[in-house]
Amino acid sequence: MTQRPVPPNADPAPVHLLNQELRFQKGIGPRRASELQQAEVRTLDDLLHRFPIRFEDRSQLQRSTDLKAGESAALCGEVVSAGLRRTRRRGFTIFEILVRDDAGLFRVVWMNQPFLQDVLKPGQRVSLYGKVEYRTPGGLRLSNPQYEVVASDTQSDDDDEDHNHTGRIVPVYERIGSLATGHLRRLVLDTLKRLPPQLDDPLPDAVRARHSLPGRREALWGAHFPAPETQLDTLNRFRTPAQLRLIFEELFLFQLGLALRRRERQAERKPRVLRVDDRVRRSALSVLPFRLTPGQKEALRTIVEDLCRPQPMNRLLQGDVGCGKTIVALLAALVAMENGLQVALMAPTELLAEQHYLSIAPLLSTSRFRVILLTGGSGAKARREAGLALERGDANLVIGTHALVQQNLRFRELGLVIIDEQHRFGVLQRATLRDKGALPDVLVMTATPIPRTLALTSYGDLDVSVIRDLPPGRQPIKTTVVPEARRQGVYDFLGRQLKKGRQAYVVYPLIEDSEKMDLKAATAMSETLATVFSDYVVSLLHGRMKSDEREGVMRRFAAGAIDLLVATTVIEVGVDVPNATVMVVEHAERFGLAQLHQLRGRVGRGADQSYCRLLYQGKLTETARARLRALARTTDGFEIAEEDLQLRGPGEMLGTRQSGLPTLRVAHLIRDHDVMETARAEAEAALGSDGIPEPVLAKLDDAWTRRFGLAGVG
Ligand code: ADP
Ligand code: MG
Repeated sequence: MTQRPVPPNADPAPVHLLNQELRFQKGIGPRRASELQQAEVRTLDDLLHRFPIRFEDRSQLQRSTDLKAGESAALCGEVVSAGLRRTRRRGFTIFEILVRDDAGLFRVVWMNQPFLQDVLKPGQRVSLYGKVEYRTPGGLRLSNPQYEVVASDTQSDDDDEDHNHTGRIVPVYERIGSLATGHLRRLVLDTLKRLPPQLDDPLPDAVRARHSLPGRREALWGAHFPAPETQLDTLNRFRTPAQLRLIFEELFLFQLGLALRRRERQAERKPRVLRVDDRVRRSALSVLPFRLTPGQKEALRTIVEDLCRPQPMNRLLQGDVGCGKTIVALLAALVAMENGLQVALMAPTELLAEQHYLSIAPLLSTSRFRVILLTGGSGAKARREAGLALERGDANLVIGTHALVQQNLRFRELGLVIIDEQHRFGVLQRATLRDKGALPDVLVMTATPIPRTLALTSYGDLDVSVIRDLPPGRQPIKTTVVPEARRQGVYDFLGRQLKKGRQAYVVYPLIEDSEKMDLKAATAMSETLATVFSDYVVSLLHGRMKSDEREGVMRRFAAGAIDLLVATTVIEVGVDVPNATVMVVEHAERFGLAQLHQLRGRVGRGADQSYCRLLYQGKLTETARARLRALARTTDGFEIAEEDLQLRGPGEMLGTRQSGLPTLRVAHLIRDHDVMETARAEAEAALGSDGIPEPVLAKLDDAWTRRFGLAGVG
């Protein structure tokens, strides 16, 4: 085990090995250090908790006579000759060796790795793994393979663990910046070798025993460099005991933190008592423009119950786009206002805040409550007046953007905080708004359909209410999947709808890798459509536009001044344009299921029949076909979310940051859902029985939010 020198400006006390920072490790220069930092891999501990994305079995050696172009192969043999060539292109080199195995000779080449001439020499035995290609002249060759000098005439022996790239089950890591899988593999191995024989274990012994989980050291080794007899299939499903132990550990600590918070929250007491009597009920009913759906009623009942409890409410209201969350929030606001409290409603964009204001203000016009709007766009004078009104208590409800979070804004008595489209806000923004009151009740709302079981175990210490029904009279959106060849039919259809006075969206995917091209395609499309529909106003909306420009376009669309909106980015969440009845998605095969559902939710918001046309190009992959079919079959967001769960492979992940779910290092919310349930039960039990080691509890408190970055908690 090599001891590294203590970094110059570090604490004189020895840093626990796993807490050492990667930037002080051998072979990590400033550039790599910053790449690792960006990927949030800072310490050796982070590194070891970054699982391989998959494993490859390279223990089955092939013979040189069996090679096939286009396949990957593992070979072993003796280097017969080696030579470095420079090509005509300046600075470009090819290092080539000839290797002999039992079956014959084969060629191996590496581009631009001239240093290999000092590593690979005639007489050595090498183990190789890489891609076979066919070139004329010369024929089959192994190109840029992973290599390992296994033994040679000059080297007597080496220790087994050193064959880590070839000749065994090999971990494959996701690249971090310029650090490719081979490099990461070496770093991980170096770190594992330096692990002390005993590692602190945050898991109580009883829990470990109950679930037959190996110790930490053993688990870390096994999760990266599994024993040769390990089943490849079990490894790739992340279900070996070693992997399960690390997954369980992460989820256990996560749930332990949640359990602690729940316990703390139980002890909190609001400095006020809310009452709901007939007068309050009548007041609420008098603003109601329609009958609530059963789902809305149930959500409201739970919220009002929360309001009347001594502990502050911390509730998530989840419901598909258009299900009518706003009115539920408004009725809750009325209860708070009737009890003499102020309410703040925060929306992610100015446009959304304005829409809320415009729909809510008329409803309150006959009440004695005063509602004001406060956004970044409000002038200095308006802001000052709003500030005064809130501080004096002259305004009862303020609707706004993150402008509400600004430092100098004060309330007389803020009792309820409502946050719309909560995933668009950071923990800090929510906490800041909440801190403007004394333990106010908090209601956050989202349209992201997370399956209920997942929400219950993952959404931190939020209580969850779900509205599953839609207001009456809504006709389900008619969705069809259309191949490129029938594009003209889509245009004809669009034309008929525009003629009826309806508005439409045409959405383009914008994938980061090909952003420029996608933007060009969308721009070209908006020009084409402007010609095709020359009698109508066609506008383009994309992510490169400044946010006020973007809002300007959305505002004109909402006002009906634009008929056809071509958009590259996801159109503003939650914007309500009931007259927009057609959603055309270009390259629908490139979108995820949840994303398509969110997009489709932009239409079907009024009484008219709405339509969604999913245009695809080329031949669909199996999962793409399944996605589009699912979408055509149902408009139920929760059903779609469940389907999404089924369709996604382990490599993919629900946009966790987006949905406000925790960020996890080794566990996967979907893949490891069952482990999460177990971890939750064990964490509750352990907390009850004082089975948690004191240092673990002490550390948990601070590190928790940082570590899990959970959006719902703060
Ligand atoms: P979301 O849950 O997506 O925020 P909204 O609150 O914006 O949905 O409601 C969508 C539309 O449905 C609004 O125009 C709203 O007035 C209307 N709406 C909500 N609830 C009902 C209801 N119970 N009956 C009829 N219309 C309703
Ligand atoms: Mg909404």
